[in-house]
Amino acid sequence: MFKQYLKEEFPFATNFFESALKHGSDKFFHSFLLTGSNPVAQYDLVLEIARYLNCQNKEHFETCECLNCKWIKENKHPAVITISPIDYLEGHSDGKPKSVISVDQIRHLKNALSLTSPYHRIIIFTGAEEKNEEVDTPFSPPTTKDSDEKRNWLPTGLSQKIFKASPSNAILKSIEEPNDKVTFFFLTSNKDDMLPTIISRSQCINVISNKIPSLDISPVENLVQKIPPRNEAEAVILAQEFIDLSKSYTLDSLIDMLLEHFKRLLEKNSENKINAMKIINIIQKINKAKLESLSYVSSIGLLESLFLSLVKK
Ligand SMILES: [Zn+2]
Repeated sequence: MFKQYLKEEFPFATNFFESALKHGSDKFFHSFLLTGSNPVAQYDLVLEIARYLNCQNKEHFETCECLNCKWIKENKHPAVITISPIDYLEGHSDGKPKSVISVDQIRHLKNALSLTSPYHRIIIFTGAEEKNEEVDTPFSPPTTKDSDEKRNWLPTGLSQKIFKASPSNAILKSIEEPNDKVTFFFLTSNKDDMLPTIISRSQCINVISNKIPSLDISPVENLVQKIPPRNEAEAVILAQEFIDLSKSYTLDSLIDMLLEHFKRLLEKNSENKINAMKIINIIQKINKAKLESLSYVSSIGLLESLFLSLVKK
């Protein structure tokens, strides 16, 4: 149901919403607090939920181009209201973007919600950052009523600094006693930086990525260029250079960085059989050293033996 990248990277949240949506929109919760380090993905996920709830052709939802889907994809559908410091400008009395979400915006939103609507309305509260250059997002930035102009805009999630107590409290009643077919979403990267009154009235869903953060291998970048060493003398020097580095990093993590470097190199060389075989041979020897490091008494001995075994024949 959701976009492929969302399903792959955020299986917990997408599975949760997929089954929640299948039980029908009337049973849908009224307020969600989405947490996680990627507010851009959170915003994209909410737009897809909005699209599902309003789609006129759910059997073909993924590729649907019904008017509701089309407008939500363009982010100019009246059912989707984004509230951020820089959006929904008509809610600011002077029409200028602010650094906080204002009580004015909440008043304006409540007026809008008091009118009936044929749609399932989705209200997205988020921080936002205006960019000078074009931004690469999987969705269009919201357009204000007054202009169709595309803006370079990134959702950044909420904090107490931009969503303070008075506007938060002004919206509480609407969350507690919502109209049918209105769902609030609050996006944040830090749940602890949200007012408890919002947290307690919302269902918290962690939009947690299952991607393992990639290992930083920059500390060994210069040294890996010297592998394989050309002769025994070079191998011994290389071992000493790694020992020097092990004053700043553990031997274990240095070996992991080596492995990671050669795994990445292998990916790049997967088409070239001869290179790939050479790299696999190096990886096997590093793996062997990694195992031996558990029992080896001397780090320098371990490294010398590893690099000597790699000397070009
Ligand atoms: Zn549709």
